[in-house]
Amino acid sequence: MNGGNIIIEGMVEVNMYDVAIIGAGVVGGLIARELSKYRLKICILEKESDVSMGASKANSAIVHAGHDAKPGTLKALLNVRGSEMFEGLCAELGVEYKRIGALVAGTEDEREILNELLERGKKNGVCGLRIVCGEELRAMEPNLSDNISCALYAPTSAITCPYELTVAAIGNAMDNGAELFRNFKVTGIRPCDRGYELISPNGEISSRYYINSAGLHAGEVCTYTGGLDLQRTVRSGEYMLLDRECAGFVRHTIFPTPTKHGKGILVTPTVHGNLLLGPTSIEREDRDDTSMTPEGINEILEKTRKTVKDIPYWKVITSFAGLRSVDDDFIIEPGEKCVNLMRIGSPGLSAAPAIAGYVRDRLAEMGLELIPNDNFNPNRKPCHALSDMSPDERNKLVKQNSKYGRIICRCEGISEGEIVDAIRMNPGARDLDGVKRRTRAGMGRCQGGFCSPSVLEILARELGIRLEEVTKSGGDSYILIGKTKEER
Ligand SMILES: Cc1cc2nc3c(=O)[nH]c(=O)nc-3n(C[C@H](O)[C@H](O)[C@H](O)COP(=O)(O)OP(=O)(O)OC[C@H]3O[C@@H](n4cnc5c(N)ncnc54)[C@H](O)[C@@H]3O)c2cc1C
Repeated sequence: MNGGNIIIEGMVEVNMYDVAIIGAGVVGGLIARELSKYRLKICILEKESDVSMGASKANSAIVHAGHDAKPGTLKALLNVRGSEMFEGLCAELGVEYKRIGALVAGTEDEREILNELLERGKKNGVCGLRIVCGEELRAMEPNLSDNISCALYAPTSAITCPYELTVAAIGNAMDNGAELFRNFKVTGIRPCDRGYELISPNGEISSRYYINSAGLHAGEVCTYTGGLDLQRTVRSGEYMLLDRECAGFVRHTIFPTPTKHGKGILVTPTVHGNLLLGPTSIEREDRDDTSMTPEGINEILEKTRKTVKDIPYWKVITSFAGLRSVDDDFIIEPGEKCVNLMRIGSPGLSAAPAIAGYVRDRLAEMGLELIPNDNFNPNRKPCHALSDMSPDERNKLVKQNSKYGRIICRCEGISEGEIVDAIRMNPGARDLDGVKRRTRAGMGRCQGGFCSPSVLEILARELGIRLEEVTKSGGDSYILIGKTKEER
């Protein structure tokens, strides 16, 4: 490890780091976790007030089997490898993972494209792929539209929760010694004697090596050291999320037959029992514009009808959009004691565990010594998820701590105890959306209409701040701005 102290804002002294990771998305998070298996001093630098604020919070949450990527590409290699690692990773981190399988649905005219996809999948090394049709297909998925006659079945395709995975990966890395700096937007990188100084308006840190996993902003970060911004077109993907009453409406992830524009608009269960419809693929100039559009909603309605019939669209509880690059391949470019990751669009979530290993190997090639950390604990401290407990288990927990008996979010059945855990565990929730992503409080049918005031109170109490200081999502997104009636 290294000495050499440096100063960041607030005159806090910190040591020099071995590796600094820019961006706390699923890729940066899993890289941090991977590197925390070794005796290294690691930090994660995130421009937002919380982790998982980029593409990793708003995507389809599919762990793709790997039949879509062009054979021979890094995408194909890391997708298949990552998908194989996913189940074990989620078990260690206590994150939901369900291998429900996927159907790429086609009409008779599209059968040839499905055959090509099957061959492509075989070349990529995907197991168990086959074409299904007729009664077998209807039995597997009774709500497919009448015009669908065949499908490519990918049994290894799965679903997960991308933001829970990101939080858990970063939490586990932190439990194993990594440090997280929030509100640390890297705006410059300066080479220095022993590596680099990473500069932000809130201070600087020094590191021997750095990883640029800043998602759609990685190209911009590359230019800080004279590199090229290879991040190209950005596309928005809009979604509609339907109530948990729709659980079981489809059993698999249903894709349309892909076109040259991409994988198309899917219909899938989520690990929490909702039904997810989307994403669209609309070009955006602004790399932060996650607005929804009427055109996007109409496209979702029109296109999902082609694969699945009688979708109960009126059960929609919310909509959201995520941004990604749409390119043939990932770019993972080792530089002088750094690695730049660009164009990590879909299937970046599926590939993320394998990307972490790939980046680790590149660092080792550059001379970073990887001495195993004997104290590394791969398991994240389990959260108390009441919804997964039997009545006896719940009663026992409530007897130990009555906070688990006070239900705050009625839609999702989330207790005060679980919210307190989310604030106290690494990386602790600091705002309303942070609690929502970690516990699901506010994710249900009323979308926080009922529980938000109570969550605000718990946040203020736990963080030792005034109610007016609690934000929705960091920055100046204050929720309370004053009193309606002054007390006498
Ligand atoms: C609509 C959509 C659907 C998708 N569906 C799937 C799917 O089903 N399956 C799948 O495998 N993949 C899917 N993907 C792709 C997947 O979501 C991404 O590949 C993955 O989330 C990328 O993770 P990341 O960590 O690289 O980027 P991000 O999650 O975007 O993280 C980058 C982080 O860097 C931070 N940052 C940026 N600039 C700076 C800076 N200068 N300083 C400090 N921090 C900075 C950002 O705030 C952000 O937190 C989808 C993507 C989208 C948008």
